[in-house]
Amino acid sequence: MRYHLTTLGCAKNTVDSIRLERTLRNLRHTPVTTPDLADLILVNTCGFIDAAKDESIQTVKTLESARRPNQQLYVIGCMTQIAATEVRTAVPNITATYGAEAWEQIAADLGPASDTYDIPQPSPSPLEGEGWGERSSSAYLKISDGCDRPCTFCIIPTIKGRMHSDTTERLINEARWLAASGVKELVLVAQDSTAYGEDAGQRDGLATFLERLSEAVPHVPWIRLMYAYPGRVTPRLAHAMAALPNIVPYMDMPLQHGSDAVLHRMKRPSLRVARQSIQHVRDAMPDIALRTTFIVGYPGETEREFQELLDFVQEQRFHHIGAFTYSPQPGTPAAQLPQLTEKTKQRRYARLMELAQAISLEHNRALVGQELDVLIESETPTQGEHGTGAVSVGRTHRDAPEVDGLALVKGEYPAGTMIRVRVDGALHYDLLCTPVGISSVPQALAIPLHPITRP
Ligand code: SF4
Repeated sequence: MRYHLTTLGCAKNTVDSIRLERTLRNLRHTPVTTPDLADLILVNTCGFIDAAKDESIQTVKTLESARRPNQQLYVIGCMTQIAATEVRTAVPNITATYGAEAWEQIAADLGPASDTYDIPQPSPSPLEGEGWGERSSSAYLKISDGCDRPCTFCIIPTIKGRMHSDTTERLINEARWLAASGVKELVLVAQDSTAYGEDAGQRDGLATFLERLSEAVPHVPWIRLMYAYPGRVTPRLAHAMAALPNIVPYMDMPLQHGSDAVLHRMKRPSLRVARQSIQHVRDAMPDIALRTTFIVGYPGETEREFQELLDFVQEQRFHHIGAFTYSPQPGTPAAQLPQLTEKTKQRRYARLMELAQAISLEHNRALVGQELDVLIESETPTQGEHGTGAVSVGRTHRDAPEVDGLALVKGEYPAGTMIRVRVDGALHYDLLCTPVGISSVPQALAIPLHPITRP
């Protein structure tokens, strides 16, 4: 069967799609590049917030209206896990719906392919039996899924269930395969990455896993940790990160608010706990780049509580801040509470982001004159927006893919190139850079400092 898969939502959903694709390919089903070529159209949906749900429904509607009678349409993932009826009401002619992580069920229902098609496949895996991976210089590695935390605004535990860690052996195998495929950055994701191994009774399971992973893929220069939970960032974890040469000094630790009263209502760890976790990583890695996310306009948030959030941001001066206005999730305790007006939420969001932007600019300015490695991401360089000549787009280790800033490097370099640059200028979120030499990453991965010459 020929299939086409559309993936919506976060990086964790992308990893789910990769796993689903592996399952389908193992059954010899064949991917195609556009839905019109497919016998089976799959949409992996996101149901995290209302905007994501709207996008999911809209995407399914569009695909449904264009499909031929002999094409099947499967809608899967987070949104169908919690709101399959809503999806079916909005788009009645769907062939089937499946919840999150239901790839085994989908595979069982489809069975092995009865026809094969002469469509080019990705290069075979260098590690037998490991399926395929993304042909990108960065790849996500989902180390666990589900969540045991009680955050009152979050529907994830209902969607994904209890936290369950993937096995270290399987993850190491996947990381080796990705490394052999040329990946230069592994981004570790989970709902709560610091819970890794807890379900197997391990303490500091994440630190142990990082040690094994770092040793298993020494030629992957950047391993990045996302979604750490405050209070679970132990001195052992911080010291392991500092000691391992290819774990980048970067951490994403979503804190959600900066007022103890709001955190208490959210059933989140207190500011004392958050400060302690931040201190652990800053003590071990004084130059660590910290990312966090905040929710503004949580039910009952007073002007004073919001000001406490701004004060906390001023105090901690995070390198990267992502912010969301609170949006009620049906089925969560916070959705029952009286809501703030949209105008208030938007006003507070703008104030927080104004402060975050100023702090980000300050951090970027401090980098001017320094030399850093940049991983080039853009295959199609931007043409001379910040100066004359072509510009390639990449990131330093201080910026995570898709959510943080960019490094704009003079010259044209292929995606996947890692080069040494000098930072010449700072924008609010991005850096302006000039190449200066060969990257300090292991030489097998470094690319000579010669821009591509266009024919
Ligand atoms: S830790 Fe994250 S995923 Fe888990 S309940 Fe809280 S917000 Fe949701």
